[in-house]
Amino acid sequence: PRVLLTGASGFIAAHVLDQLLKKGYWVRATVRSDRKKQEILSANAQYVSQLDFAIVGDISQPGAFDEAVKAEPGLDYVVHTASPFHFHPEDIERDILKPAVQGTLGVLQAAKKFAPTVKRVVITSSGCYWTSWQDWNPITWEQALAEPVGAYYGSKTFAEKAAYEFLDNEKPSFDIVTLNPPMVYGPILNAQTAASLNESNTFIYNILTGKTDDGKVPKTGVHIWVDVRDIARAHILALETPAASNQRFLIKADGIYSAQEIADVLRKHFPEQPRIPVGTPGAGLGLKDNDIFLADNSKSKEVLGMQYGSLEEMLIPLAKDLLALKE
Ligand code: NDP
Repeated sequence: PRVLLTGASGFIAAHVLDQLLKKGYWVRATVRSDRKKQEILSANAQYVSQLDFAIVGDISQPGAFDEAVKAEPGLDYVVHTASPFHFHPEDIERDILKPAVQGTLGVLQAAKKFAPTVKRVVITSSGCYWTSWQDWNPITWEQALAEPVGAYYGSKTFAEKAAYEFLDNEKPSFDIVTLNPPMVYGPILNAQTAASLNESNTFIYNILTGKTDDGKVPKTGVHIWVDVRDIARAHILALETPAASNQRFLIKADGIYSAQEIADVLRKHFPEQPRIPVGTPGAGLGLKDNDIFLADNSKSKEVLGMQYGSLEEMLIPLAKDLLALKE
């Protein structure tokens, strides 16, 4: 099968790409620059015959994906991961909200117009239900404009809603699946330095290297997470599972976690690291799984056949990668 993967240079997308290539898919990767293309090529040298590229600079521009979706033979699937995930925009609307919403709509419009063979579009949304733990984050556009964290949560919510509205209004011949992961952590396959580390793994990096306020264990704002290898596998299962059609899935590891548990696991396996905060070992988060009743991953298990790895299985390889990063 033939897939367009947007934002292929990203942390999660690198794992999606790896799993797609290993399963024999042909993949056209969209990237913003020739440098990113070369990095992906050298990381996947044994798969060059299955790999193709399209440079898509600004995903906010109308028609940005129009050329990328044209392929001969035609594409079977699109996986849309490209979206800004950072908390330091110069201009929230321009840098966060528009690329998220327009990027998603642009992919869908391009597929409808120029890629009639596409059967399904899988979209990496987010489990950013913010403080409310409702199915949909109730945030408004105005609230999202107020500060960068809300901007990111809003951007993912508005983009996913726009996708379902597109489906209702435009009735394309393809269906969609949206995946809602909370914090995603895990081993790093894309080219990274400490400075360019993606947003979620930076949280672990700061604990590992003691870059926390007053050297204390930080608070975990979100207490659900998923291993990057699991969310990547969910993307492939979402392509391959007919029953996933037009559904959204919370993709999260079993149970909850806390920064204290992260610090405990890191100190156990990396005792030579002097700056991992101690906190109150074993204290955990002080919440029971039942307290976050909507964080239920059973649909992903029943429909997609997902299974999830443990915090320890995620942290050990990630910490090794983080310690090997160049400053
Ligand atoms: P990364 O920052 O590593 O990857 C983001 C990708 O999107 C990169 O390929 C980046 O390109 C591309 N991108 C960002 N902004 C633009 C833009 N304006 N125009 C074109 N491309 C852009 O993040 P992740 O891998 O962590 O995130 C991937 C997806 O997963 C996103 O949709 C994110 O919202 C979602 N997600 C991530 C979670 C996490 O904890 N990591 C949790 C929930 C959802 P470039 O490399 O050129 O910057």
